[in-house]
Amino acid sequence: MILISEIFGPTVQGEGALIGVPTVFVRTGGCDFRCSWCDTLYAVEPQFKSQWQAMTAGQIMQRVNELSGGVPLLVTLSGGNPALQPLAPLLELGHAQGYRFALETQGSRAQAWFAELDYLTLSPKPPSSGMRFSADRLRECIAAAGADTQLQLKLVVADEVDYQWAREVAREFAHLPLCLQPCNLQAATPQQPELEADLVQLNSQYRWLVERVAADRWFAARVLPQLHVLVWNNERGV
Ligand code: SF4
Repeated sequence: MILISEIFGPTVQGEGALIGVPTVFVRTGGCDFRCSWCDTLYAVEPQFKSQWQAMTAGQIMQRVNELSGGVPLLVTLSGGNPALQPLAPLLELGHAQGYRFALETQGSRAQAWFAELDYLTLSPKPPSSGMRFSADRLRECIAAAGADTQLQLKLVVADEVDYQWAREVAREFAHLPLCLQPCNLQAATPQQPELEADLVQLNSQYRWLVERVAADRWFAARVLPQLHVLVWNNERGV
């Protein structure tokens, strides 16, 4: 059984190399991390467990098909940490129906079935998250994915310390396509400010990151905002 927090869409992927691509999101429940600025605590913290549902691969694909009208598209596996779930049967069933799968994980747990994914986004967490980065664990994930899964490194940057960390990680994994993303700090703010104030903050974080990258002539980095946060703020299920 696979622990599911929510299934929603179709919408578009709001970040990373697949930004703008139509997709249905399958969000799993449970995470081995607890990042200080996590924007999906409802898929992480045990207090939300009662909202998660144990589903079979067949039940998940049935829901995905209902949402997509039976038209195969990209399924985005997110979390929590979806790498904690037994997803091999879902990939097999979905592929047989013509769907493609992209999974995003922090790279703390490698799975043999990573090799069955179409896309794997590895998003190790920076110092501002409060979590510890393991390059060895990330290497295990890359090795598990093999040659046929398209890999991407996505690094979230909240401040200068994160930026310097991102420089080091990118140097170490220079063979991977790289996306940098400003950190969505607003999501962790207990009392949400107004949308307009959020956007001003997000825009200034994005501008800072672009200027920082440009000043360093770091031309291998693609710098992207979170499209869905710009459009829908931190609203859930879009
Ligand atoms: S790894 Fe992702 S889902 Fe898990 S706590 Fe960190 S931000 Fe949240």
